[in-house]
Amino acid sequence: MTATPRTALTIAGSDSGGGAGIQADLRTFFACGVHGMTAITAVTVQNSLGVQGFTEIDTETVVAQIKAVAGDMGVDAAKTGMLATAEIIGAVAKTLDDVHIGRDTNVPFVVDPVAASMHGNALLREDALEAIRTELFPRATLVTPNLDEVRLLTGIEVTGPDSQRAAADALLAFGPQWVLVKGGHLYSDPECVDLLSDGTHVVELTGRRHDTPHTHGGGDTMASAITAGLAKGLGVPDAVETGKRFIERSVIESYPLGAGVGPVSPFW
Ligand code: PLP
Repeated sequence: MTATPRTALTIAGSDSGGGAGIQADLRTFFACGVHGMTAITAVTVQNSLGVQGFTEIDTETVVAQIKAVAGDMGVDAAKTGMLATAEIIGAVAKTLDDVHIGRDTNVPFVVDPVAASMHGNALLREDALEAIRTELFPRATLVTPNLDEVRLLTGIEVTGPDSQRAAADALLAFGPQWVLVKGGHLYSDPECVDLLSDGTHVVELTGRRHDTPHTHGGGDTMASAITAGLAKGLGVPDAVETGKRFIERSVIESYPLGAGVGPVSPFW
């Protein structure tokens, strides 16, 4: 018998292609040495060419999954990915309060505000953006938007360091404790510069850009690696630094699969 590992819960959607969503989260938790648990919110039909559609899980079942694991196994950190609808978002927010997960508890909570796939397929119903801002952000220890999500959430088009800083401040105004504005989609920049801020501490994390088309699941993988770090007791800046190194390596090791975009890799 081994000692019980730390636990991390992902509340997110399934990717039938195995590259993103719940599947990416679980393998990242495994690679980071924490026990992964899941509350599935939606089942997507997708492959390397894109998302063909999705069916959301009924709200009661989403809530019951969270309560079942929190009440018995315990959660050391949690994250959300694809949440699909405003109804699911509202129910998840209330349930997190009930089970004492979130920024004002001692269980850190990471919100990856997933809105669309890299192919541009919607993963969130249109009315749900407002629910992410008002229901989830105030409960978040950390939010991790990419630049497309920043534009949808704040209207700010990030083109360089000044607008990245402005975007961080605009996102902090919605109430999360920390925000990580990921710069990986700023292709004009030869480096990938992410900005982490809580309004007082501002940290720039710089990484080398690796030229590959195969980045499916990158955002989920980074948010999960950060969540695993938080589950192991790291503070937010250290967990984010660990997550940044994890995703850099996963992108370097990414592989082709199918005729379209392959996944970042868990094999290293
Ligand atoms: N499918 C699911 C279930 C996801 O959660 C995500 C991203 O969070 C994606 C697809 C999109 O991944 P990508 O933008 O890396 O293709």
